[in-house]
Amino acid sequence: KKCRPPINENADETGGSATIAQLFPLARPRLVWVGSYSISAMFRTLPCVSRRSNGNLSSWAIVARPFDPKQSQVATEAYRHRFLSTIAKHQRPKKVAIVGSGPSGCYTAKYLRAAWDKSGGVDEESEIAIIERLPTPYGLVRFGVAPDHPEVKNVQNDFNSLFESKKGIQFYGNVEVGRDLTIDELRSRFDAVILATGCESDRKLGLPNEENLTGILSAREFVAWYNGHPDFTHVGNYVREALGAETDDQDIHNASVCIVGQGNVALDCARILAKGGKGLFDTDIASHTLPVLGNGVAQITVVGRRGHIQGAFTIKELRELVQLKEEGFGTSFVVREDELDLGSTPASIEELESAGGRPKQRINKLLRKAATENEEIDAPKRIDLRFLMAPSTWEPSQNDPSRLGAVICERTRLVGEPGRQRAIGSGETERIPAQLALVSIGYKAVAISSLDEKYFDEDRGVVKHVNGRIDNPNPSLGGLYAAGWLKRGATGIIGTNIPDARETVATILGDLQRPPAAEGSRGNSSLSSLLEERGVKIVNWEAYQRIVDRESVQRRTESQPREKITDLNELIETALV
Ligand code: FAD
Repeated sequence: KKCRPPINENADETGGSATIAQLFPLARPRLVWVGSYSISAMFRTLPCVSRRSNGNLSSWAIVARPFDPKQSQVATEAYRHRFLSTIAKHQRPKKVAIVGSGPSGCYTAKYLRAAWDKSGGVDEESEIAIIERLPTPYGLVRFGVAPDHPEVKNVQNDFNSLFESKKGIQFYGNVEVGRDLTIDELRSRFDAVILATGCESDRKLGLPNEENLTGILSAREFVAWYNGHPDFTHVGNYVREALGAETDDQDIHNASVCIVGQGNVALDCARILAKGGKGLFDTDIASHTLPVLGNGVAQITVVGRRGHIQGAFTIKELRELVQLKEEGFGTSFVVREDELDLGSTPASIEELESAGGRPKQRINKLLRKAATENEEIDAPKRIDLRFLMAPSTWEPSQNDPSRLGAVICERTRLVGEPGRQRAIGSGETERIPAQLALVSIGYKAVAISSLDEKYFDEDRGVVKHVNGRIDNPNPSLGGLYAAGWLKRGATGIIGTNIPDARETVATILGDLQRPPAAEGSRGNSSLSSLLEERGVKIVNWEAYQRIVDRESVQRRTESQPREKITDLNELIETALV
């Protein structure tokens, strides 16, 4: 009796029930829910349900009818048979390729696999190729997340289980799309290709001399260097020269660094520079950083053009800076009360008191407390967190005009509505001495080669897409999709990639209800053959395990999680012995 949802002439398609007339005029209904029953529940148990289909699975509906015990049994069996044979015509294992093995690529694989496991049948044989340009997986989990945040990196265990599950998910490390094969070569072998290549460039401040002066680096390059990314080992010489780090690696470098930007990446850089190699010895920071970072840098100034209530950092990262001295890292944290007052405009107070203002209230409280403790600046190193300061000029060093000497900042003030305040210059300037500047105003995606430029929004640094779909599937090419930072820009934490991946997966599953007929050789075996023909040295999951083992064996200390191999050739050789 539960199965008797009455036809309700007034209900809309999501209202619980609908008439045939209401359902079929819909342009492209993919799935119509009736009552509170899922389709499978209806077909298994509900004799009162009838289906009408135009024979096209992507456009069908289920309609509930009043219960009629005499007719229902016969009708159900007939409909069930017709329905299942319609599905069978379109069912075959799906072949999906994901480009990029960072969190977004891995979450996309996870939710696709979960959906297929749930639907069962031939979907259980569906397969996924995860293609990664480096020999090691997980993108910024390995090369972005700070070495002293090991708990964040535990997400790798979740991702490892994808490859270890033996459920058709294969790792293709050391394979670069755009270099080793094109996107269309992938699309002709897979039903869906998802680009999850992250953001491999940075936003620039665009001040004169930014490209020419030695001593200005992006935070992205600095982070990739200390995390042992094989493409950024050269950054070490640059940092060494800028910090004058020629001497004993136990020294505190008597240098000044200015970090521009106030997101968590900026605060990560400040903390790493303060702790130095000595303070990070037990972490997985790359060994080549230890002599360069020494025992930390004497003066670190973090500047942002807006106020403390608009800062993009979170309380956890802020607290870590405030507590550096208490935790024995010899670094005072300094924030100025006058700058906090200046940033507390009526609009900022409204922002604090708004519905989403609680995290900012906690930050405000912590900064106000820290400001009252400024008189205890007695540690050998110090971090200044400065607000309402906009860099306006890179000033060359007087001793060597090819090098950075200082960052000239203009005092700003906030104008505008709550939530939309802008910083405008006041004309007053301040000189912040700096031998090294790290620009941390955001990562930006670049279009990978072989992606048609019409799909890429150069200004925003993201691909153009609708709910994750970049281009529809067609008879000869699988659909093209996006996930993660490439899709939405460089925002959010690892967990933000979960709803993002789920959206893309929902779009793909909808499209794959009617995958194109399979032709020729497709999927993982076809990809492997193509790459082998081209002599690409594929680092598969088993080969990657040799890197894991070696990195574990060569640890500096028992408590260090791993000692990363930072040379690309060595990584490949270790994997492919
Ligand atoms: P990525 O992680 O960048 O992955 C992209 C992958 O694609 C890379 O492995 C790359 O090598 C690969 N690739 C690129 N081009 C190609 C190609 N042509 N062919 C094949 N492969 C390719 N979040 C937290 O929750 N906690 C933190 O502590 C934290 N710290 C962070 C610190 C830093 C410095 C940064 C930058 C981010 C941090 N995040 C943190 C955010 C988190 O790292 C991101 O949300 C997440 O990594 C984005 O995932 P993604 O898969 O889109 O990109």
